[in-house]
Amino acid sequence: MKIGTPKEVLEGENRVAMTPESALQLQKLGHSCAIETGAGVRAGFSDEAYQEAGVEIVKTAAALWKNSDIIAKVRIPTDTEVKRLSEGQTLISFFNPGGNEKQLKMAADKGATVVAMEMVPRISRAQKMDALSSMANIAGYRAVIEASNNFGRFFTGQITAAGKVPPAKVLVVGAGVAGLAAIGTSTSLGAITYAFDVRPEVAEQVESMGAEFVYLDFEEEAKDGAATGGYASVSSPEFREAQLAKFRELAPEVDIVITTALIPNREAPELWTEDMVASMKRGSVIVDLAAEKGGNCKLTVMDEKIVTDNGVTIIGYTDFPSRMAAQASTLYATNIRHMMTDLTPDKDGVVNHNMEDDVIRGATVTHDHAVTFPPPPPKVA
Ligand code: NAD
Repeated sequence: MKIGTPKEVLEGENRVAMTPESALQLQKLGHSCAIETGAGVRAGFSDEAYQEAGVEIVKTAAALWKNSDIIAKVRIPTDTEVKRLSEGQTLISFFNPGGNEKQLKMAADKGATVVAMEMVPRISRAQKMDALSSMANIAGYRAVIEASNNFGRFFTGQITAAGKVPPAKVLVVGAGVAGLAAIGTSTSLGAITYAFDVRPEVAEQVESMGAEFVYLDFEEEAKDGAATGGYASVSSPEFREAQLAKFRELAPEVDIVITTALIPNREAPELWTEDMVASMKRGSVIVDLAAEKGGNCKLTVMDEKIVTDNGVTIIGYTDFPSRMAAQASTLYATNIRHMMTDLTPDKDGVVNHNMEDDVIRGATVTHDHAVTFPPPPPKVA
């Protein structure tokens, strides 16, 4: 089969779904590869590099979509892109099936199969295809780098001939995939790092990374905010108050706050209030990785960087993986390549779209002219 990757059309999107390296691997599965000219340039991959890896360079998006059996891309397709799908074609991409009913129906009506990368079940066997985790890992890392770039001081403490520099204090709120990446980056830069999560079971992981877990003075802690299937649920008002009281105590102390707290299928909980921002030191930085879901900080403006009257920088960018396009593309293209490995069990260039397979079934949101979202819960943990 021919796998084609178009140039991303969303303005500012620098990632690409196929790299020269992933193309070599896809060819080992018996597939041929094509890419729209210039699609990899913003991620650091030239047409020549693809050509050397045996990839056909196609001049236009229209020709690429028309002549590929499988389209691999990053961003949720535009209407124009969905209209380009044809009978029997497969699209592998982020798709936001829960909030994209119209396009789901359009794709199903066209007879195309859509594999939505955010729907890959979060089970051990599927980790290699888990694009949400690969992108969250990058976002967590980049959030700290962005914070340090705006902080204007060292993260690590130093004793120099010109004076003593105290280490920066970093608080990470939410210790999921992005939060843990932020914690690892912050401790490796030498900052004193604190982390909080409503799931107390992550405390050990946080501490093993050299950070300090922030415990609340709250008896019900072990039970509350606690997880359903590893995810957070909404906290009780009492728990929330205890959490905010602790954050109020920490706000004047910390230099950097990275917030990553999310609850599946809900707006992000508001955890960093206006008065907390007001009590922070001039020069402090907040990076709100929940900006796309409304933000954990009351003052966050999505996709913007603002500076408050008291000199606190608040960053609400939502494109951290695209800001590290070379790394993000490499990991995403690897996730896609693993998906293709599972879709090509005999490595003979023939796709077997096995809807009995938990992972393939979970990620497939249209197939055989039908919308197949939401999937049944996975059987294997
Ligand atoms: P997420 O992005 O949904 O949320 C980020 C973090 O915010 C979570 O740790 C959550 O507990 C926390 N949070 C929510 N409300 C909060 C609040 N009020 N205060 C502080 N923190 C709050 O999380 P994620 O990174 O997608 O990970 C969620 C779960 O999925 C974790 O248990 C993780 O280990 C698991 N996971 C499993 C796999 C796999 O098995 N393949 C892959 C990725 C993640």
